[in-house]
Amino acid sequence: MKDSENVMLIPKIKLGIVIDHIPAGDGIKVLEIITRHEEMHEVVVSLGQNYKSKKLGRKDLIKLQMDYLSPEIIQHISLVVPGVTIKAVKNYDVHSKVVAHPPKEIKNLLVCKNPNCVTNLESHIESYFTAVDKEIKTVKCYYCERVFELHALEPNVD
Ligand SMILES: [Zn+2]
Repeated sequence: MKDSENVMLIPKIKLGIVIDHIPAGDGIKVLEIITRHEEMHEVVVSLGQNYKSKKLGRKDLIKLQMDYLSPEIIQHISLVVPGVTIKAVKNYDVHSKVVAHPPKEIKNLLVCKNPNCVTNLESHIESYFTAVDKEIKTVKCYYCERVFELHALEPNVD
């Protein structure tokens, strides 16, 4: 049985959200995003690090004791660690599964690096980036039109 090893390493949960296929070492980054969202402050979170993974060699894994993770948080995670799998578990079975890819349009989730950008000068103007390439590795600020590497931009903490 191929799966028996995984069952031993990663205890199954009855109900919850599992964030899987996080590259080893990036679990902390995902955790940081989660704790920035106020709605997550009462949620029990566990981080597992350095599990064996066929796909990644080693991976981190996060479990959340909750039954629904908002699309906004999923989007936020996808910007910082693209390509993680988000699974909703019900009665020990994976009920639904999505791979979190960054969206082509990113509204109010990132801070523009240009200090003179209107989004940094006027607090009521929300940041807005659009993807430049298909892989969404570079994005362009709608307001100042500067182009940035996605991983170089800081998430919005508000
Ligand atoms: Zn800008």
